Amino acid sequence: MSDCIFCMIANGDIPARIVLDEDGILAFDDIAPQGPVHTLIIPKHHYAHMGDDVPAEVMEALFSAAPRIAQMKGVAESGYRVIVNNGRDAAQTVGHLHVHVIGGKPMAHGMVRFESAE
Ligand code: 5GP
Ligand code: ZN
Repeated sequence: MSDCIFCMIANGDIPARIVLDEDGILAFDDIAPQGPVHTLIIPKHHYAHMGDDVPAEVMEALFSAAPRIAQMKGVAESGYRVIVNNGRDAAQTVGHLHVHVIGGKPMAHGMVRFESAE
């Protein structure tokens, strides 16, 4: 997808701080980190979200990279959160499947904040 930021990063067309470059997947630091550690793992091939006919081996590659990234970033022991936003209600802003790995300081309990109480 030529107008996709993460495809451009995967192709090396725009720079990113690369953490891991492996068969089929790439991990790089988030440009607007929400914690001391905030790394994104993407498939090099474009999938919009987890429901976009993603092969099981791609899912496996994405998720098996998360604990290794946590180790590399020094948060394996202290803990980290792994998040995938899928679609509008989840506030996905980049339409290329990505896995967030976030950590480096204690987080509040709970994982979901809705926009409104209803
Ligand atoms: P989403 O809200 O779609 O789950 O997350 C998209 C993430 O991509 C955000 O955390 C945002 O900061 C990050 N992001 C957006 N554009 C870029 C970019 O050009 N480079 C990098 N490294 N991260 C980006
Ligand atoms: Zn893409």
